[in-house]
Amino acid sequence: MLDQPVTALPGIGKEKAKLLVKLGLKSIRDVIFSYPRSYHNYCQIFSPDQAENDQEGLFSGPLVNIQEKSLNKNRRLIQGRLLGITKSLTVSWFTVMRGRGGSYLYRQLKKSSHVWVYGTVKEGLYGLELPNGDWYTKQPSRLGLQPVYPLVAGITNAMRLRWIEFALDYINQIYECLPSVQLQTYMAREDALSSIHFPKNQEQLDKAKQRLIFEEFFLFHLSLSKLETDQQFIQHQADGQLTKKYLANLPFELTPGQEKAIVDVREDMEAPLQMRRLIHGDVGSGKTVIAEYAAIKAVNLKGQVAVMVPTEILARQMHSRLAASLGPLGVEVALLIGKSPTKAQRHTLTGLASGTIPVVVGTHALISHNVEFKRLTLAVVDEQHRFGVRQRIALSDKGHADLLVMSATPIPRSLALTLYGDLNNTVIRDLPAGRKLIDTRLIHPNRRGEVYRFLVNRVKQGEQGFVIFPLVEESDKLEAKAAIQEMDILSKGLLSSVRVGLVHGQMGKEKEEVMEGFYQQKLDILISTTVIEVGMNVPNATVMVIEDAHRFGLAQLHQLRGRVGRSSNQAYCFLISEPKTDIARDRLHVIRSTNDGLKIAEEDLKLRGPGDLLGTRQSGQPWFKLADLIEDQELLEKAAYAARQLILENPTLSEYPTLLKEVKRQQP
Ligand code: ADP
Ligand code: MG
Repeated sequence: MLDQPVTALPGIGKEKAKLLVKLGLKSIRDVIFSYPRSYHNYCQIFSPDQAENDQEGLFSGPLVNIQEKSLNKNRRLIQGRLLGITKSLTVSWFTVMRGRGGSYLYRQLKKSSHVWVYGTVKEGLYGLELPNGDWYTKQPSRLGLQPVYPLVAGITNAMRLRWIEFALDYINQIYECLPSVQLQTYMAREDALSSIHFPKNQEQLDKAKQRLIFEEFFLFHLSLSKLETDQQFIQHQADGQLTKKYLANLPFELTPGQEKAIVDVREDMEAPLQMRRLIHGDVGSGKTVIAEYAAIKAVNLKGQVAVMVPTEILARQMHSRLAASLGPLGVEVALLIGKSPTKAQRHTLTGLASGTIPVVVGTHALISHNVEFKRLTLAVVDEQHRFGVRQRIALSDKGHADLLVMSATPIPRSLALTLYGDLNNTVIRDLPAGRKLIDTRLIHPNRRGEVYRFLVNRVKQGEQGFVIFPLVEESDKLEAKAAIQEMDILSKGLLSSVRVGLVHGQMGKEKEEVMEGFYQQKLDILISTTVIEVGMNVPNATVMVIEDAHRFGLAQLHQLRGRVGRSSNQAYCFLISEPKTDIARDRLHVIRSTNDGLKIAEEDLKLRGPGDLLGTRQSGQPWFKLADLIEDQELLEKAAYAARQLILENPTLSEYPTLLKEVKRQQP
């Protein structure tokens, strides 16, 4: 019954139904689950005697002097006085009406001796006024808080009120979905739904909201869990020969953070449950080693490993890194990028399906339908913030795979809980020993020449460097052209004595060749747009020059700077900029004064707000109807915790059929 179309409600015909689709309302269920955007307070009825400037409320009294004036051909002003004992309010409305005779509103008001008007009082030229209020000729039947709904042209709030009243007749068909323990704390579902539309008072509204917000978070977290009964997760065995050899041959000492991460991953993989682990560590903290360790451990047990990264450049880089570290152990690493099935790709696809290729690195091409694995036992997702929550699940679902997620983006706790709420967290806090702080300096544009001379000097010492231009819209051909021009100017001028390469977002295959040249030190300096922002690793590069630095976001600057300082050589970052505003200056000072990614992220959050961090562009990110990720942090934590507890106790939710049904509704 709840799934009947809205036309089943009285007063909704084909035309109205079409308009309602614009509001996302197709079924009766949709109408019930479409919440008011705010409330008008009808709890108290005021007399005009109580009115004060700026007061919002429901006023009532005798209406006198009602008259209608034509302002022009089709606009009319209707005015009257609402009387109190010592004061009165001038009430007024504009209406649009052609033709002769009084308007509907005028005729209605003329007939009534007493009216009720909801609105905001304004101090006017001749005393207090109440313009364009909602008007009633009878006392509104439902006092208390009056819901205000999102509207489109042709749909009024009064219509929505009427329809929701009809829709709530079906409320008894809504079943409870929360486990009974939760109901000791939260309002029952039916009550919450009717209260959110027609709350008796603020207290009831708050309780209803709490319940529904908790439900949103709770269902979201459960929807990230695997609920199938046929979970045959791989239980990896203790470290084998290959794994031991890998660890023994590492060219450096692991940091304590890395040691801890390896222990966590080892325990997870050897447990009979699916590993779901997030390794969080600032840029340069050495997360790749953890992925390599896990990969070898999986391969050691004849499993297959998929490593997903956000861009083709990163895929190629990760591929060559893994090939270099796993190759000597006899483990083949394949690369899979793009959709076009080239010959090499077909070979890779066949190899993955038959199980002859043990490790593959790729972009999200890895989760496309034509990729099959014989026995995928480990899925690794690097630089996770670029992917949606659902994408990492899609990858591990290619098999019964353990899941390892790596991220360098420090995010506030509430966002972490939604993006990674289903994952266990390991944080790598330390950087490899011997790393020197990156020397970061703010440089006025008229001292650019010195910076480039310094850069050329470092190159002469055998080091490499980056020059970044803020060409934000990678899709824009014009800006690509600007990058080419800049490159031209630099390579003929300040950088004429060294080997320079250029990459930008409009390049195709050549981009990879240039990057490759830079890795192999056939190029000294890479001029680039932000395409190199995440994950690139060229330890020999020590100088980062960022032109027009004020045009980048703080987190972005931190990521860019993280491309240098990846060896024991002293690294430098030059921010060339002449910030015009205080905010711009403050931001650059934040970057200059700290290397701490978390601190920078917090500043960024303050300056930009949470929406930007989640990024509306990213697919698969959760958005909630009622819940606010910052405001409702406490409920979010409670819901995440409760969801986890429940899954531990009853992993398939078989004992909670109504809950299971709602969770399934959340899953795409
Ligand atoms: P990220 O965490 O940013 O992904 P990487 O895994 O790319 O960092 O590591 C950054 C650089 O540090 C690489 O060149 C890597 O070989 C090196 N590295 C990693 N761990 C250590 C360590 N314990 N000691 C010294 N160098 C390390
Ligand atoms: Mg990395």
